Amino acid sequence: MKAERCQATAASGRPCSATPRPDRPFCLWHDPEAAELRRELSRRGGQARSNQARAKRHLPKGVLTHDELRGVLGLTIADVRAGTVEANVANAVASLARAYVAVSEAAAVETLEREVAELRDLIATRGLA
Ligand SMILES: [Zn+2]
Repeated sequence: MKAERCQATAASGRPCSATPRPDRPFCLWHDPEAAELRRELSRRGGQARSNQARAKRHLPKGVLTHDELRGVLGLTIADVRAGTVEANVANAVASLARAYVAVSEAAAVETLEREVAELRDLIATRGLA
């Protein structure tokens, strides 16, 4: 017998609205039988976060974070308004910033796709699909 909704009570005090696991009354987050898998998912999430932090620390000199890029754009806008930078230079900065963001977003999407695939594989091998 498969319930439509997880039978657990969420931290909010309301019934959990998640889909239960196959042939189980609870969702992945509330099923006592899934405790080990939750720990593994959590550990992998922590690894992914620390990999990101490590990657950021090892950025080569001259590579901008998004915050730094925002700062460069803000300064360039101020310079344009003050007349201390040529419009063609500002246009080049804006164009490069767009390219930088596009490349960063593509890399972030690739990372997410890889992580989702890993989690799907993990869930499939544990029979939790
Ligand atoms: Zn639940």
